[in-house]
Amino acid sequence: MKVVIIGAGLSGLCCAYELERHGIKPDVFEERSRSGELFPHVSAMMEMFIRPNRDPVKYLEREFHIKLKPLHEIKTIEMRMARVKRSVTGNLGYFFLRGQSENSVESQLSRMLKTKVHYNVHADYEQLSREYDYVIVCTGNSRTAKTLGVWDDLFYSLLRGVIVLGEFDTSKIIMWFNKKYNDTGYAYLTPFSSDMASLILIVRGIGPEELDDYWHLFWQNGNFNYKIVESFTLEHIAGLVYPHQLENILLAGNAGGFLEPFLGFGQISAIRSGVYAAQAVAQNKDYEKLLEPLKTDLSRSILLREYLNASGNRSISMVTRVITMPGIKQLVYNSGVDVLKYGTGLLKILDKLTGERISKQ
Ligand SMILES: Cc1cc2nc3c(=O)[nH]c(=O)nc-3n(C[C@H](O)[C@H](O)[C@H](O)COP(=O)(O)OP(=O)(O)OC[C@H]3O[C@@H](n4cnc5c(N)ncnc54)[C@H](O)[C@@H]3O)c2cc1C
Repeated sequence: MKVVIIGAGLSGLCCAYELERHGIKPDVFEERSRSGELFPHVSAMMEMFIRPNRDPVKYLEREFHIKLKPLHEIKTIEMRMARVKRSVTGNLGYFFLRGQSENSVESQLSRMLKTKVHYNVHADYEQLSREYDYVIVCTGNSRTAKTLGVWDDLFYSLLRGVIVLGEFDTSKIIMWFNKKYNDTGYAYLTPFSSDMASLILIVRGIGPEELDDYWHLFWQNGNFNYKIVESFTLEHIAGLVYPHQLENILLAGNAGGFLEPFLGFGQISAIRSGVYAAQAVAQNKDYEKLLEPLKTDLSRSILLREYLNASGNRSISMVTRVITMPGIKQLVYNSGVDVLKYGTGLLKILDKLTGERISKQ
């Protein structure tokens, strides 16, 4: 069977690895000279988004045979809202190095492969679909799905990332939700080390000319005394894709609409969809069916995102107070309770308790 994968990012590399496990040696084309973004950053893999599973590293190994070495464990989440600041502690997930360095997730995955990736090749799915039995599109963007007419825009955001020098706790992620400077987006800080971190601001629905203003407002409000050593700007586009397979073309990762819209996280869903695409091809299974659990998680995450969009600073601060109360905090951050599944229900209960309309009906 002749299979080609376009894109050697998270979904493409995991797809190739799963195909190899089934005895299929795919061709993999990547337009960069190495896997991974040109700028390094630190990503978070949160335990609460894989419930009822508890440990993302063990989950990936058990379910997908993918062994990844994280950079640090996440032991504290600090939430800085407009009216309230709260911290929770526990075994909350992991930080991973992203980009092109030796220990980045992309480099770790590349080393797991026997298949040689063909770098510096910009591949065209249409041409390849005539030459191969299957084309798995893992390009990290919406272009192919849009051309095929199967993409519906959900959220368009702009992302400003900077690498900063300062003093950091390597086990802490800091998150900011404040309508004043990030509208319906948010910001987060993830540490490389005790003296270097990535700081990312995501703002939804604005034009490139507005991003600087939002950034300055955020920077001023944060009272940061960090030194910026690098910065980058990217688009963050979440969309809904259906179907995910058209004849011999399969869409995975961000190209399949698997960027989680609540926080813009997509590592786990990129890995999952890449593996499912490989299983669909190798075992002649229905890709859409394999994707069902992932699509359910995605639709729950859309509801949480809609809540965030519809709520003001007051409501968000209030929810933060509630979810960090003793007992509830334990349930949300330190239990096997599926937060994605019950999160929207919890918001509705809070509506009733407080008499405020904080969740979208
Ligand atoms: C700054 C930033 C921070 C993030 N932080 C987090 C986080 O904290 N937690 C989290 O879970 N997620 C995070 N994400 C999201 C996560 O990184 C993505 O969802 C995930 O990488 C998507 O994987 P992918 O395989 O779809 O795409 P990618 O990993 O982007 O890979 C796509 C690859 O395809 C290649 N390509 C594209 N077109 C072609 C072509 N025509 N021919 C050949 N090659 C091509 C690209 O060069 C690229 O290497 C973050 C993303 C960014 C940008």
